[in-house]
Amino acid sequence: MLYSVVKKVQGSYNFANMKKGLLIIMSGPSGVGKGTIRQKVMEDKDLNLFFSVSVTTRQKREGEMHGREYYFISQDEFDKLIEEGKLLEYNRYVGHSYGTPLAPIEEHRLKGENVVLEIDVHGATQVLSKVKGQQGVVTIFLLPPSYEELEKRIRGRCTENDDTIQMRLKQARDEIAQKGNYMYNVINDTLDRCADEVKKIIHKELGAL
Ligand code: ADP
Ligand code: 5GP
Repeated sequence: MLYSVVKKVQGSYNFANMKKGLLIIMSGPSGVGKGTIRQKVMEDKDLNLFFSVSVTTRQKREGEMHGREYYFISQDEFDKLIEEGKLLEYNRYVGHSYGTPLAPIEEHRLKGENVVLEIDVHGATQVLSKVKGQQGVVTIFLLPPSYEELEKRIRGRCTENDDTIQMRLKQARDEIAQKGNYMYNVINDTLDRCADEVKKIIHKELGAL
């Protein structure tokens, strides 16, 4: 499988002088602003970023598009992907399944693109155990300025009912307790400042490759 991806990519790219791209794992509690920051950071075309679109069994929110934010699939389809070994990692989060398709990651990194995974702390742990010792892996944890502000952002997004919001807030405390496992902790206070800090981190890590 990987071999065929490599062959396909080799057909159209010269690998002689090309470095494999970074694998950037971005985590942080639901509602902290991961998606918003990622979109802002991706505007910097010098960073050559590729967003890894996850699969999920949760309902599509208003404004989301299949294949852009997520691939929205059924639980049966999700289970089949696991069985076939097509997910790099997966997890259950507040009643739904989320997972990272494996094939596009290596394909895009081999093209020299820097691949961004937006996944929870459990998914990040699974990925890190699989890429142990590899160069070019960067982990970033986004933090809210306060729990009050986090709740405000989740509520302001108007996409969940109260029960789900409470479950997400509980989950947030468990996730934030693991911020120390990440190379970088960045506070999403204001959009521009936070996005600039994330951009600087990626530029720095690219310089170190
Ligand atoms: P996540 O992807 O982490 O779940 P989102 O990107 O959906 O979070 O952001 C949650 C909400 O918070 C959105 O309504 C977004 O517009 C808002 N938001 C994101 N960053 C900021 C910020 N720095 N200041 C104020 N609101 C923000
Ligand atoms: P949301 O429903 O708010 O989009 O996402 C809920 C949580 O699932 C967030 O913490 C988000 O980062 C995480 N998530 C999204 N995609 C994946 C994935 O592919 N794998 C894992 N493990 N978590 C994911």
